[in-house]
Amino acid sequence: MIRVLEKNVADKIAAGEVIDRPVSIVKELVENSIDAGADSITVEIRNGGKSYIRVTDNGCGIEESDVENAFKRHATSKISNVEDLDDIGTLGFRGEALASICAVSRVELITKTMAGREGTSIVVEESQVKSHKSTGCPEGTTITVRDLFFNLPARLKFLSSDASETRRITDMMSRIALSYPDVRVSLISGGKNIFTSTGKGNILNNIINIYGADTGKFLIPVSAEDGDMILKGFISNPSRTLSSGSKQIFAVNGRVISSNVMKSALEAGYRERLMHGRFPIAFLFLCVPGSTLDVNIHPAKREIRFNDNGRIEDFISEAVAKALKSDEGVSRAVISQKPHDEIQEKVILETNAPVNIRKNVSEKKEQVVRKKEQKQEQVNIKQVLSSIKRKPEVLEEISGFEEEKSTYNVPFDFDSLSVIGTLFNTYILTQNEGNFFMIDQHAAHERIFYEQMKNQYMSSEKASQQLIAPINISVSSDSVACEESWIPAVTNMGYTMEYFGNNNYLVREIPAFISLEDAEAFLRDFISSAGDNLDPTDKRAIDRIITRACKASVKGGDVLHTEEAVSLINRLKKCENPFSCPHGRPTFVKMSKYEIEKMFKRV
Ligand code: ADP
Ligand code: MG
Repeated sequence: MIRVLEKNVADKIAAGEVIDRPVSIVKELVENSIDAGADSITVEIRNGGKSYIRVTDNGCGIEESDVENAFKRHATSKISNVEDLDDIGTLGFRGEALASICAVSRVELITKTMAGREGTSIVVEESQVKSHKSTGCPEGTTITVRDLFFNLPARLKFLSSDASETRRITDMMSRIALSYPDVRVSLISGGKNIFTSTGKGNILNNIINIYGADTGKFLIPVSAEDGDMILKGFISNPSRTLSSGSKQIFAVNGRVISSNVMKSALEAGYRERLMHGRFPIAFLFLCVPGSTLDVNIHPAKREIRFNDNGRIEDFISEAVAKALKSDEGVSRAVISQKPHDEIQEKVILETNAPVNIRKNVSEKKEQVVRKKEQKQEQVNIKQVLSSIKRKPEVLEEISGFEEEKSTYNVPFDFDSLSVIGTLFNTYILTQNEGNFFMIDQHAAHERIFYEQMKNQYMSSEKASQQLIAPINISVSSDSVACEESWIPAVTNMGYTMEYFGNNNYLVREIPAFISLEDAEAFLRDFISSAGDNLDPTDKRAIDRIITRACKASVKGGDVLHTEEAVSLINRLKKCENPFSCPHGRPTFVKMSKYEIEKMFKRV
């Protein structure tokens, strides 16, 4: 027998789509506050939000006559017709959050608009209005959610420990604080202040408040514009990475989201600058026209879909790559540093709210009402953007950034380097005006070799040198048996060889740009790595083997004279990716004069 579910059962099922744990409630409520134009939001939780969540904002409030509607399913003030779905400028629009929350908890809402003479207080439990009365209260909205899942014990059991629910909320709230630098966000857990952002519109300071000054010092600004797309934000220098992508924050049009497209674009931008298994820290804020994406695919709106993934990906990865090729992208000499993964999320105990906030509130309120009428323009995005544009001043405020300021995002200038010597027969020491650099001769050589070999492989003209006396190399019988899988590849790189019998090959020509010794070591390693099923048209497989074989062929420890060091740097300069070897190790590390002076306590 097919039955139509009773309303209260249907409500609970629908709620499950939006509300799975306390953090999803906090997220919905805070997004509502942001949509309401609030510039100060306080979140208080107890027991990881299971027993108590209270969100207080100074936004536009809800009119008395609308208060009950706010709790109805598909009740929203944010869209009214299908066309509106194509260009959503608010965080919410489904009208589902409050309806879902009140189906699975006890909710009390107190709210007042600027125009309202009095405020309204309403209590809703299991979707039933329990009380509805007038009350005196400040402008804005306070929602208290108690006893989550009191009516769904099975769900309650699925929640994690208080500590880990708190962690989830802290993480989400830091993301919100970062993406809304002009909103003062405060998180209190069990009566303790977890963090408070200043709301003064400074993204970098916010990052530092949340992740610590040490991380802040390693951030490189990213900034790009292409037609109707704008990207702003910060990424970490390759010398500061983590073992997971947990500190990668992406926002699109002010909405913090998870996006595989942005994630892989970030990775692609770093290309070979990272060791395998390392992840950069990133805060990337993308603005694109609302019509080029679909935010409607995920009930909790954590994901979005771009119409043109390729375009977004190229745009972001190019911006990241460009930032990494700047002066600030050169790896830093890290002398004393906590292990990367132990960066403590810095807890800011900042109890003094900026004094001028309340003063400005009524002024802002008027603006907010106007904004609401204009169908909620994308206020927050503009705030984000304008605050990041203030970048250079921001840098000034952080010690350690002073040196870089004058060369802010300028492509690295190899010609400014002068060689001062070598160290341990392995490192070339160089300087320019404000910095000291060490170049790992082995890593540099590997990078040069790799790019030359790869270019030769790709190019139609092969630069080869004929050997006066051909060399003989002996390989395994397996390699002979599958010679058709590797011979075309090495031929493509400028080798000419023929079978001589008895598992031996005669090599008559080698690539023009390498020594006989290197050419031979490379060839042996390439053949033994190729295995028996190398597809000569599989560029990525070939690339992997070239990368490997490069390592085998380049030996460190040769003493370089100044002219040789200069020539190595000049060849490195011509590389597409000069700052790391193909395996992600840095070729260069930099120490600024300022850092050196600091080491000697001169500054
Ligand atoms: P949605 O955000 O998708 O519109 P919600 O269920 O989250 O749906 O909220 C329903 C409506 O309640 C909103 O459209 C808004 O008009 C009102 N509302 C909710 N929270 C607030 C708040 N903090 N301040 C002002 N209005 C609010
Ligand atoms: Mg909402």
